[in-house]
Amino acid sequence: MIVMKFGGTSVGNATMIHQAVTLVRQTVQAGEPVVVVVSAMNGVTDALLKAATVAARRDLDLCWRIHRAIQARHGRAARALLPDSPGRHTLQRGLAALLRDFRRLCESIALLGECTPRGLDAVSSLGERLMVRLFAAALEVGGVPARPVEASAFLVTDDRYGEATPLLEETRTRSRALLGPLLAEGITPVVTGFIGITGDGVITTLGRGGSDYSAAILGRCLGCREVWICTDVDGVLTADPRLVPEADTIPELSYAEAAELSYFGAKVLHPKTILPALEAGIPLRVVNTFHPEDPGTLVVAQERPTPSTVKGITAIRGLSLVTVEGRGMLGVPGIAARVFAAVAQERISVLMISQGSSEQSICFVIPQPVAERAQIALEAQFEQELARRAIDRVTIQSPVAIVAVVGAGMRRTPGIAARVFGALGANGINVICIAQGSSECNVSLVVDEPEMPAAVRHIHRAFGLGRTASPTAFTSKEHPSTGD
Ligand code: ASP
Ligand code: MG
Repeated sequence: MIVMKFGGTSVGNATMIHQAVTLVRQTVQAGEPVVVVVSAMNGVTDALLKAATVAARRDLDLCWRIHRAIQARHGRAARALLPDSPGRHTLQRGLAALLRDFRRLCESIALLGECTPRGLDAVSSLGERLMVRLFAAALEVGGVPARPVEASAFLVTDDRYGEATPLLEETRTRSRALLGPLLAEGITPVVTGFIGITGDGVITTLGRGGSDYSAAILGRCLGCREVWICTDVDGVLTADPRLVPEADTIPELSYAEAAELSYFGAKVLHPKTILPALEAGIPLRVVNTFHPEDPGTLVVAQERPTPSTVKGITAIRGLSLVTVEGRGMLGVPGIAARVFAAVAQERISVLMISQGSSEQSICFVIPQPVAERAQIALEAQFEQELARRAIDRVTIQSPVAIVAVVGAGMRRTPGIAARVFGALGANGINVICIAQGSSECNVSLVVDEPEMPAAVRHIHRAFGLGRTASPTAFTSKEHPSTGD
């Protein structure tokens, strides 16, 4: 059995849904049972969140405009997919009921004049709930017996609304009890991604982009053969093709490599997806819905080294580098602990840390919007040390970007870092700071944000990644054409 997850860009309109349905049908008809997991149509979750926000401001005009747009888009897809099938009325009734819930939720939010995280989850879950009905009906029309299933029937989570964590044991028991009999009857379940339910029966969501995670959790609970993440690109690429036009699909990654790439900004896989797959040893496959015959990227336990050692380069922009600096820090225990405690207290998550061996500075990278808050918290934390000059200053450098160079083979291969920094040095790109995780599967460095695209391109080229490139010496010239 395969769990096949379709993202918003694979179910954005009737033509796309038809394509996704074809892939499911071919797989089922070839004798492999499928559990489908779907996201909302692309842009719908954003629109729902927007509606909830404006409802809280009592701007119901805008709210109803959003409502009408969502209604029209799903209505159009329903008419195109089920032109005159008997299932059309049932489908339309199902969609209409959800759209009525949407209206009532917005009215309640407007009445209260506020939207709680719990209310936000109730609204943002609607996109997936609309989609399972549409997708299952389209499968039926395509000759595949199917049933829409809301994950709120089995995916039990804690009550951290907006970022809930699944509870594995309960989810396993309930998902098997519910989906097992359907599969046994030859019915393809079409399950909502992204959403779950608390023990008390309140809808939660797993965080933005969380449908991948839903698919991996479900795969793990049901013990499937593979989890497919079906999307609108050809797999995980060696770099972002908007930065590096010759970027190419990476045929195979280990779980660790995929985790590093997704954590550091590769958008195809939600970072949380890897763990459930890894724990159960289930391969993940990233497939292009529109070219399913292409091999895509396979993510497995085993590391398979490649000649270039480096497999991919990712980057995150919009970051700030915070530096706590001072001679008085030398040999003083507890400074680092206090730095990170102060940041943690602000609930700011740190992406990367680096400390020079002279111990005269600690620097770390956080999202730019929270940098000022971090600075204020640190200045308060070290008020005394700043007053007596044991710490000289807390500075912020913005905007910066992290560039992460990923490949498990780095552990055994000397000279990788030299090649990375050589490529940057030869092209006049200044590296602000560096970190290498102890997994040695990733070298990360910080550059000024405007230099990031060139940094990615030069490293990509230095390792001979991509379709046409062959490894270059450190003296490579600026790449002629890029989108930035
Ligand atoms: N629809 C949700 C979102 O846009 C979940 C997902 O797409 O994976 O975040
Ligand atoms: Mg997604």
